[in-house]
Amino acid sequence: MTYPVYHRIDGPIVMIGFGSIGKGTWPLIERHFEYDPSQFLVIEPDARQHGFLREHGIRFIDTALTPANYQQTLSALFPEGKGFCVNLSVDTSSLDLLKHCRKMGVLYIDTVAEPWEGFYFNTQNNAERTNYALRQAVRDEAAANPGGTTAVNCCGANPGMVSWFVKEALLTLARDTGHEATAPTSREGWARLMQSLGVQGVHIAERDTQARLKPRPRGTFVNTWSVEGFISEGFQPAELGWGTHEPWFPPNGHRHETGCQAGIWLDRPGAVTRVHTWCPTPGPQFGFLVTHNEAISIADYFTVGQGAEPEYRPTCHYAYHPADDAVLSLHEMFGSGEQQATHHILTEDEIVEGVDELGVLLYGHEKNALWFGSRLSNDETRDLAPYQNATGLQVTSAVLAGMVWALDNPNAGIVETDEMDHARCLEVQRPYLGPVEAHYTDWTPLQNRWEHFPEGLDETVPWAFRNVLAT
Ligand code: NAD
Repeated sequence: MTYPVYHRIDGPIVMIGFGSIGKGTWPLIERHFEYDPSQFLVIEPDARQHGFLREHGIRFIDTALTPANYQQTLSALFPEGKGFCVNLSVDTSSLDLLKHCRKMGVLYIDTVAEPWEGFYFNTQNNAERTNYALRQAVRDEAAANPGGTTAVNCCGANPGMVSWFVKEALLTLARDTGHEATAPTSREGWARLMQSLGVQGVHIAERDTQARLKPRPRGTFVNTWSVEGFISEGFQPAELGWGTHEPWFPPNGHRHETGCQAGIWLDRPGAVTRVHTWCPTPGPQFGFLVTHNEAISIADYFTVGQGAEPEYRPTCHYAYHPADDAVLSLHEMFGSGEQQATHHILTEDEIVEGVDELGVLLYGHEKNALWFGSRLSNDETRDLAPYQNATGLQVTSAVLAGMVWALDNPNAGIVETDEMDHARCLEVQRPYLGPVEAHYTDWTPLQNRWEHFPEGLDETVPWAFRNVLAT
């Protein structure tokens, strides 16, 4: 098998964190870039990952980055001010790391706007615990220091790839409804296109059906990606980009006074906030309204006008049905009020069936709703790339695409995926996504309700958030 080699990377490649995503990204870097393998180094404090690193002859340092040591550690690892820093860890501040990398002239990529350890659970004020706040700090830095060495923020599957899917879905919808379907060349152009197509909102609609034979043992949190990452975001307040078509405001909702004002947060953890949504395999289903960076970034990017009262803005949020074992794990954790002592990420070898169906559901337009996304199975993943399940490959292939884009555009400043060339990124990523499909549906949140229990639905605006939110 031969693979395209996209670029040569001169200087060190430093990967921070070698968990499920780091381990899956490493073989893609090996395949698709030319570099000196002795310059590849991992920063990983967990001894459980060290056996794999030793076995595969990968250099590593056994260090946890902290606010006190990150500058000195990274400066020593990038002595000549060139190379690539690939941040795939939890508990390290994306903002601090990307600022330091840019100061050194080192390219940077990550998959979340991550804070330092302690932020998620020790911050008392819920408004300050939001992804809105984390994202706005990165946006403020980008605005204060435009241009310069490229740092790609939030380039995984979601946040990340789904922003490229939104654009591809818009072009598909434009084509299928007889509108002009040439890709716009500016942010304003994309926002106008979404507005002109009558899109009221976007769900990041995901159904993960990956499963193993062994039943989940009580007291173990089982997931298909970082358990720590999922628990952290699940305990943050639910958040969504807030659209201009919404006729009702949630009683537990809060706006933000500063920043782009594209999003709101609810006084409730995302992982116990359910929404009605739709994916191709299950059809209608519950998803969790877990907060994600892309809920705010997509709503912000596709805004016509600005501030709290724009001319047009889509509603946007995550609607996530994780693997069944993860649903049970959440149920147990929120019920007991305690995190499980044991964490387990399902490996590609123990998973016996299932698909991660991850896409964007554009709704409220003349064809009602369009789901566009990847339906990657674990079986297919095993043939495509080693050391990861389907969820992992959707993320790691987005990191690959983001790295290629950064090397194509090394002086683009701090960017998020909405601002990148979606066609180029998907061209790189698509071989790893399994079937990428568009599905229209007639379903709206007014259907498949429980007729014996009136829910106070708004019959006049079928896709109103009031109808999407499960009571
Ligand atoms: P993981 O929990 O499997 O691995 C994280 C690794 O980071 C661990 O090996 C841990 O030891 C290491 N680490 C912890 N603290 C560190 C520190 N201070 N310095 C250096 N390393 C440290 O997680 P994962 O599944 O590999 O996910 C990695 C990151 O990617 C997480 O932040 C997660 O939220 C994010 N993620 C994003 C997406 C997306 O689509 N955007 C999807 C999955 C995961």
